[in-house]
Amino acid sequence: MKREDILYYDKNYEVVLGDIYFENNIVTKTVEKDKPKEYNKSDILLPPFADIHIHGGYGVDFMNCNEKDLIYFTEQAKKDGIGAFMPTTVACEYEAIYRLSESIARANIPEIWGIHIEGPFINKKHKGVMDEKYIRECDVSLYDNVKSILPDKTVRFTIAPETEGAAEFCEYVCKKGDFVSLGHSGATKKECEALKKGGASSYTHVFNAMSTLFHRSENILSCALTDELYCEIIADKIHICSDVLDIVGRCKKDKLILVSDAIFAMACKEGRYKFCGREINVKAGKAYTDENVIAGSVLKLKEAVKNMSDIIGEKSAVKAASENPARLLHKFDVFGSIEEGKYIL
Ligand SMILES: [Zn+2]
Repeated sequence: MKREDILYYDKNYEVVLGDIYFENNIVTKTVEKDKPKEYNKSDILLPPFADIHIHGGYGVDFMNCNEKDLIYFTEQAKKDGIGAFMPTTVACEYEAIYRLSESIARANIPEIWGIHIEGPFINKKHKGVMDEKYIRECDVSLYDNVKSILPDKTVRFTIAPETEGAAEFCEYVCKKGDFVSLGHSGATKKECEALKKGGASSYTHVFNAMSTLFHRSENILSCALTDELYCEIIADKIHICSDVLDIVGRCKKDKLILVSDAIFAMACKEGRYKFCGREINVKAGKAYTDENVIAGSVLKLKEAVKNMSDIIGEKSAVKAASENPARLLHKFDVFGSIEEGKYIL
């Protein structure tokens, strides 16, 4: 198959006019014909996005889904520019995480890179909307069991560095080639350093569900903004305002990762729903409990890219949704730019 005379970003993010040949969503050849000086920005084909922190959408809740739901979700997500994603859990019973893992295994969809286990190894004080009764100390048996169900998929954890056993857990998971992100936490710099030594590679939705900045002492957030690890952000302008999005963009540059943190109600009608066992309201682009605690988002990643484009420029925003998550999870050889051998929508 071929897309003829199309404008697209090449790997250096220069706008190129050319032909793209592809087979089964994989680029087989690109033929550059011109580097136009004038063009309509909205005509540029973007590389596909990867959403590595998403709880659901289009009416599908990953904590309660089967393989058919995953197939439906993937088809809908593709229409919104998503070429890869990681279904993300909340703090829950291990059994619910195994059920999701089994659905992912049965669905056998290449667009699903693996699973992101966001609970249960987090700090109760920074739980957000998660159910406290499932929060506990780190336990490698959860990782081992999920990996045995999904041997060929990526497993990524969000853990709080101050959780009992976190450093050993992190080292164990990273040595096996999987990933640990730091979040839902009030960790000190020292606690973060211990996990970085063990291979932790990112921070989960910075500024949200973690201690905030204090000018007289270092903590997880000051580490996140100043070190070399990747940082997820939810760029809906609700979880973080524009000025703070700007600060994170300036601090992290190529280590910035846009995530949606979307829940099943993304792309659904406004109203009252259940999430994490609680009643939540979805109204005016926001998901929140009756106590006004934010409960994930109803953001599409392409909207995050648009919001961030206004702040850090389109090229950096697109990279943060495509190349950067691919690099974090060692997928950049097959995803994250429009080049031979890589995934295209
Ligand atoms: Zn989340």
